[in-house]
Amino acid sequence: MAEITLEKIVSLCKRRGFIFQSSEIYGGLNGAYDYGPLGVELKNNIRDFWWKEMTRLHDDIVGIDSSILMHPRVWEASGHVQNFSDPMVDCKQCKARFRSDQIDLAAPCPNCGTRDSFTEPRNFNLMFSTHIGAASDASSKIYLRPETAQGIYADFKNVVSSSRVKVPFGIAQVGKSFRNEITTKHFIFRSCEFEQMEMQWFCTPGTDEKWFAYWKEQRMAFYHKIGIRPSRLRWHQHGADELAFYAKDAYDIQYLFPMGWQELEGVHNRTDYDLSQHQSFSGKDMTYLDPVSGERYIPYVVETSAGLTRTVLMALSDAYEEETLEGGDVRTVLRFHPLIAPITVAVLPLVKKDGLAEVARELEKDLRDEFATFYDESGAIGRRYRRMDEIGTPYCVTVDYQSLEDKTVTLRHRDTMEQVRVSITNLVASIKGATASYTRGGSEA
Ligand code: ATP
Repeated sequence: MAEITLEKIVSLCKRRGFIFQSSEIYGGLNGAYDYGPLGVELKNNIRDFWWKEMTRLHDDIVGIDSSILMHPRVWEASGHVQNFSDPMVDCKQCKARFRSDQIDLAAPCPNCGTRDSFTEPRNFNLMFSTHIGAASDASSKIYLRPETAQGIYADFKNVVSSSRVKVPFGIAQVGKSFRNEITTKHFIFRSCEFEQMEMQWFCTPGTDEKWFAYWKEQRMAFYHKIGIRPSRLRWHQHGADELAFYAKDAYDIQYLFPMGWQELEGVHNRTDYDLSQHQSFSGKDMTYLDPVSGERYIPYVVETSAGLTRTVLMALSDAYEEETLEGGDVRTVLRFHPLIAPITVAVLPLVKKDGLAEVARELEKDLRDEFATFYDESGAIGRRYRRMDEIGTPYCVTVDYQSLEDKTVTLRHRDTMEQVRVSITNLVASIKGATASYTRGGSEA
């Protein structure tokens, strides 16, 4: 089995238009990435699936979209101004910068090999700051949000008073976050600009452990639903050294990335810490009056905090396979679940001539309402299949001479490469049926 490295994934992403380095023509900008034509579809599909799961398919979760720029007091209340920092060291020889908790300070510099070349560790706040308004003095200093959660807490009262939610309920949000990360290696795994998908679940104190268990189960199930192999997912419970002082319990979902097991999402029991902090910093009442018990309290929060862009990297890593076929040929295939694949159906005429192209074009247009489609008539049919395999298109529909006679086409399944004859009238139902019952095929299923 060929080893799947991050380099192979990075190379495919650039070659096929999933992800590019930001400002590449100027030499690039560290920690910033652009999503190309296929990457944006993959990212949006994952985001939309999360949104549907977390809001529409769950009772009592509503969404918001809060602003990236917030009142600076928010970040004092949240603790980010004081505590959101990583310890960093520089190599005095080569000037490379590292997180001192991620390297062995007694060892030589990983970049240039010089011994005893590190500066003393010093704390470095990860928030990007800027200024609002014309004056740029201390009073105009604001931050780009380092997480989306605080926007949810700050709007807690607004949501309670404007919607018909009752505790327990959740508020979901997807959006950009910014962190001035010291080390931005591993492609989009850790970037300075990234997207998060967060849901804060507000519940009565005392019910939090029950909800914590519930959300743990739901969140793991989510990754199974988008087709991620369960054998590559696991839980990691925060030990006493990792647990935030206010948190009652915290687990991370980890995925086996090409560079090893790494965090993908956190499920945390944050108690009443955040709302209490905002109550004391803003002076505004953050309590909730329970209409049934008549009790007034600050709800506990169970947080599910996932990285959208990190999930994109996971989906790519999990899908990537180099399959050796009979006869020794190797095909690169992305085994995306059809629910998240950038293109769901490719329509291909066997040859351009004799009216096949026209029929295929027409069919592709008819399918647009139902699926993300793509039309391709250039090159040998085998090469076109390979191109679709490489970008993870689960279904190819081929129009051939028989199609002109009996209005049937072949439907090719990416994972098995099996082709079945389907009548055009049954095509949509066949594709939907295959998607509903999809299980990953291939040697590494
Ligand atoms: P780490 O310890 O790895 O820096 P964290 O534990 O601080 O991360 P959280 O603050 O819990 O991360 O963020 C929640 C999620 O947001 C993470 O699980 C991850 O998926 C995503 N995330 C956080 N930082 C980044 C980043 N720099 N780039 C991409 N995704 C990120």
